[in-house]
Amino acid sequence: MRNVLPWSEQAPPDGTMGEPRALGRFGEYGGRYAPESLVEACREVDEAFREAWADPGFRGALVRLLAVYAGRPTPLTPAHRLSEALGVRLYLKREDLTHTGSHKINNVLGQALLAVRMGRRRLIAETGAGQHGVATATAAALLGLEATVFMGERDIERQALNVFRMRMLGAEVVPVTTGSRTLKDATSEAMRHWVGATGDSHYCIGSVVGPDPYPWMVREFQRVIGEEARGQCAEELRTGVPDYVVACVGGGSNAAGTFAGFADTPARFVGVEAEGGAGAARGRLGVLHGCRSLFLQDGDGQIVEAHSVAAGLDYPGVGPEHAHLRDLGRARYVTVTDEEAIGAAVRLARTEGIVPALESAHALAWVIRAAGDGRLPAGSTVLMTLSGRGDKDASTLKELL
Ligand SMILES: *Cc1c(COP(=O)(O)O)cnc(C)c1O
Repeated sequence: MRNVLPWSEQAPPDGTMGEPRALGRFGEYGGRYAPESLVEACREVDEAFREAWADPGFRGALVRLLAVYAGRPTPLTPAHRLSEALGVRLYLKREDLTHTGSHKINNVLGQALLAVRMGRRRLIAETGAGQHGVATATAAALLGLEATVFMGERDIERQALNVFRMRMLGAEVVPVTTGSRTLKDATSEAMRHWVGATGDSHYCIGSVVGPDPYPWMVREFQRVIGEEARGQCAEELRTGVPDYVVACVGGGSNAAGTFAGFADTPARFVGVEAEGGAGAARGRLGVLHGCRSLFLQDGDGQIVEAHSVAAGLDYPGVGPEHAHLRDLGRARYVTVTDEEAIGAAVRLARTEGIVPALESAHALAWVIRAAGDGRLPAGSTVLMTLSGRGDKDASTLKELL
């Protein structure tokens, strides 16, 4: 494992976050490690995505759906009272205000439109806590597609409300009984199922993970967060660009989409992981779910299960582009504990009247800590992506507070 560069040496902008090299390589990470039939299916997705992304008609249809259905653009909210207390100027990019309550809708609408363009009639998805499953079921209902969502049996028990929401939206929820019966196993099962269904189904991955072209494609679908924020910062901030851009990192899609909008600026990138799911901060090189990246592993190279109070950060790895940004020193990855995240959620609720998702609360917890210990110099401007709203976490919080 390479050493993370010291803070002061974070690399300047260098044109990263464009297209990956051949076969989805980000430095030594990425790639397309999949059985032959899936390699072919991924090639088809890649070709269709490149065509679609270059087609103003496709782009226009997506922009319109994001506006009239998902509620974009989302506001940039200055966190006045919290900023004053922390001594920094904090701005929140409000993905919590989108339809279904998180940034996941940006990606699923893109992939669902792509599936229609490819003539597919069904979406396959994996889900952990059910957030990506609900978003996929939503997009499928909107566009008249079927949805089959794979979910670990343990997660089905823990997330009964989201299981109900998916079924309400007309999706089929398939319980996965293998392994630890959680997200990692649901993902493996969804990929296995796709092998036999590539002709009529599109596999809709929920983050910047998996085989090429997914890490790149999902980042492009989430780029709207960063591009909107860039324009909003240009209007709102005296300097035009924030000093720091901060986002939580599970697989890394809301962070990648946010960073992408500021790739050519001197803004410093900070990805905040859960202490128990720190793929970028503490993972080792490995291959999982079709992709070479950093994963939490035991001494024998077995993938270790992640643990976080925030279900969306419960993934043992990180997207390949984040691994690369870390090696380059372009982004820095830090961790916060469950307790810090819960404290940050309460603090945001009481100072700004916003109950954040526990995932997003991780990003805020780092901002609070760093403003306190001087890592964030007084007066810095900080853009933080608030990836989702906290309604889904109400029962968790109720038990813990
Ligand atoms: C799924 C989820 C995340 C983590 O996913 P990324 O791909 O890392 O963005 C973060 N926040 C919320 C609200 C989520 O639902």
